[in-house]
Amino acid sequence: MMDRDYSVNYISIVVPVYNEEGCLQELIDRTLRTLDGLGKKFEFILIDDGSRDSSREIISRASASRPDEVIGCILNRNYGQHSAIMAGFSLVRGDLVITLDADLQNPPEEIPNLVAAAEKGNDVVGTIRQHRRDTLFRKVASKIVNRAARAATGVHMSDYGCMLRAYRRFVVEAMLQCNERSTFIPVLGNSFARTTCEIPVAHAARKVGDSKYSLWKLINLQFNLLTCMTTVPLRMLTYFGLLAGFSGFLLSLYIIVRRFCWPDGDAWANSGVFTMFAVMFIFTGIQMVGIGVIGEYIGRIYTDVRARPRYFIEEVLGRKEQK
Ligand code: UDP
Ligand code: MG
Repeated sequence: MMDRDYSVNYISIVVPVYNEEGCLQELIDRTLRTLDGLGKKFEFILIDDGSRDSSREIISRASASRPDEVIGCILNRNYGQHSAIMAGFSLVRGDLVITLDADLQNPPEEIPNLVAAAEKGNDVVGTIRQHRRDTLFRKVASKIVNRAARAATGVHMSDYGCMLRAYRRFVVEAMLQCNERSTFIPVLGNSFARTTCEIPVAHAARKVGDSKYSLWKLINLQFNLLTCMTTVPLRMLTYFGLLAGFSGFLLSLYIIVRRFCWPDGDAWANSGVFTMFAVMFIFTGIQMVGIGVIGEYIGRIYTDVRARPRYFIEEVLGRKEQK
């Protein structure tokens, strides 16, 4: 493998903000202090996802005091965390893009560790929350989701939920070329990375305010996570149909054999009730397979509609003019 230049000279921080006035100023101060200490060129992009409190004013004040580094991106209304991050991605100019939550659950002091891990030659740096400070419900839910997502997507990650992540610029550009409307950024990012790693990070309890995710939003997000990578759930129908049809077939075989080979055949079959079952199984099976086949087509339509880039050229060698 050819050695690439993995050094990071320009860092972009992307933070979605939704009604976070209680901790936003502290976040900005701590992040800027960390970035100043790092001694690299940086930009700090704050996306206001339609907040209804003073978050927007805090962002514009921060941007006014350091206009070259702090960039405010104000969305006209609330689009959700992942869409807000995408909006931020469309503005980035750095070599390495780091996403972070605004609620200080991901300490900004971890940024240098992410940069160091990326400089070791990783396209994506994930994180694993140590001593996670969330409610028991959130922890259990996320454990189940992580496991299901791992099985369904084939993208190995121990902790999909943690947003403190670093992506190389080209991974972000590939993500921006995806046309789907429902995205789950960590999974999407990993699908464009050649090398990934995960590092342990500290996790704090939410300082102020409540989680912006209601149960319903959370369920919705999990569906995004699954459908973002695979159409496996659609295929399940075909499998169930085949299973039902096949067991119906076996049951009818058994009934026929029983009828002819055992003297009490008739009594056992309970005047045709079991035969009914066998026939029903077979027909239900056929129907489910039919739906499953339609599902296969829908799955293909879905993949095409998303219109993800099929490949992403990192570099063209040996040609003079660059596009
Ligand atoms: N967020 C957002 N738009 C939303 C919901 C959340 O930009 O509609 C931001 C929020 O301000 C925070 C991050 O996404 O920076 C994660 O939200 P939260 O901490 O509520 O999620 P949790 O930690 O409970 O998963
Ligand atoms: Mg949080």
